[in-house]
Amino acid sequence: MTLVFPASPTVTVPILGESAHMPIHRIYCVGRNYEDHAKEMGFTGREPPFFFMKPADALVVVPEGTTGDMPYPSLTANLHHEIELVVVIGKAGKNIKAAEAMAHVYGYAVGLDMTRRDLQNDMKKQGRPWCIGKAFDFSAPMGPITPKAHAGDIEHASIQLTVNGDVRQKSSIQKLIWNISETIEHLSAAWQLEPGDLIFTGTPEGVNAVKSGDLMEGSVSGLAALKVHVR
Ligand code: MN
Repeated sequence: MTLVFPASPTVTVPILGESAHMPIHRIYCVGRNYEDHAKEMGFTGREPPFFFMKPADALVVVPEGTTGDMPYPSLTANLHHEIELVVVIGKAGKNIKAAEAMAHVYGYAVGLDMTRRDLQNDMKKQGRPWCIGKAFDFSAPMGPITPKAHAGDIEHASIQLTVNGDVRQKSSIQKLIWNISETIEHLSAAWQLEPGDLIFTGTPEGVNAVKSGDLMEGSVSGLAALKVHVR
């Protein structure tokens, strides 16, 4: 078979301690998965988890020890940071029960669910899809993958984001409303998970705007940090 033009290259992410890279399949994101962030967005309580997606080529892959570069996107005057733990799926599955979910996890990474908040809010008001606010080009910076055996006690890890050295977001993975296993149970009831799928698990409170020239530094204890410069 010949192609009318060359196929787009597969997006890949480096893995700490491995020479092989992870080929990325899909990016799923969880909405409002920390109580204090749900509250700051005008919601309360534990609603069932809900999901949206970003295209795999929205990733800005930032290798260990380097600073990534994200262009300030078009159409927005309110670009928000959302620091998130990223779960990397290593084994396919559908209707995965929470008790078996960890067998499907390859590892973890630090990610940013960058959001054109003004556009997202417009879409929310109109009951329209969030794509323009969430799934834009360069909207998903992420660091290298740490295999789960080397990630320590991820369920109790701290998560933090600084902008130009000032702490903006600071919480614990323990505060996830739906923990990693429960999230996989819900997500895999709706979609068949495949190796190379990423799950951005939601952001804690403290989301706010960044502007051109800002330096974002994200961390989850036990994982490689993520540094991204907004161009
Ligand atoms: Mn998010």
